[in-house]
Amino acid sequence: MNEDILKNLEIIRRRITSACTQSGRDPDSVKLLLATKTVSPDRIKIALQAGQTLIAENKVQELKEKYEALKDVPHTNHFIGHLQTNKIKDILKYEVSCVQSLDRLELAEKLHQRLLLENKAMDVFIQVNTSNEESKFGVAPGQAMELVKRVSELSSLRIKGLMTIGLLSNQSDKVRDCFKLLKALQQQVIAANIPYVAMEELSMGMSGDMEIAIEEGATIVRVGTAVFGQRIYPDSYYWNENTEIK
Ligand SMILES: *Cc1c(COP(=O)(O)O)cnc(C)c1O
Repeated sequence: MNEDILKNLEIIRRRITSACTQSGRDPDSVKLLLATKTVSPDRIKIALQAGQTLIAENKVQELKEKYEALKDVPHTNHFIGHLQTNKIKDILKYEVSCVQSLDRLELAEKLHQRLLLENKAMDVFIQVNTSNEESKFGVAPGQAMELVKRVSELSSLRIKGLMTIGLLSNQSDKVRDCFKLLKALQQQVIAANIPYVAMEELSMGMSGDMEIAIEEGATIVRVGTAVFGQRIYPDSYYWNENTEIK
């Protein structure tokens, strides 16, 4: 099982490289974030010890449960789940450095107040619901610009980019449309030249759709099951490439 994690990381690294090559991008321009929901600290550690540095939880409860076990292994914690305002304190306590799922002004204001109290600042991404599914969190695309402007006025929050979960579908053109939309919003925000807003990051793409996301400009892909899950790859996937796998 644990060896699988190393093999899977190798495969992911190659998928990133090949998607970058495909679209004329530098592979170093795409960061790998490991989505660690339901994954035990022991297994997360395997990935961290293999050189991964960026992990993210969806639930504050899991963040809390794993905190002690992971504390001494260097890494960066992002938060990618729906965040309730009454959990903001915990996010800070368990050393989340970036909330990628900021999707409403009320949350931004409460987060800002708490950060001021603790004399801290935090990176945030604005999460956009590009697939327009009711079940998904994220600000509606048409309201994203306004939210960026309002959040930019909160001095403890540093907007670094946008995040989205693409449509979960095997119709790749529809998935691609979600990522294109996020990229277009990024360009609009850049053009609006809002003070204190950096827009260099686009967090999009998961295990099943990271190639499409990279082609459309992702700078962070968030991968869970393809690293930690039960997915079995055919041997041909390992052997028809040149590089060695440990
Ligand atoms: C679980 C999760 C991922 C990773 O999804 P996989 O399909 O397991 O790679 C990415 N982003 C968010 C917000 C998630 O909740």
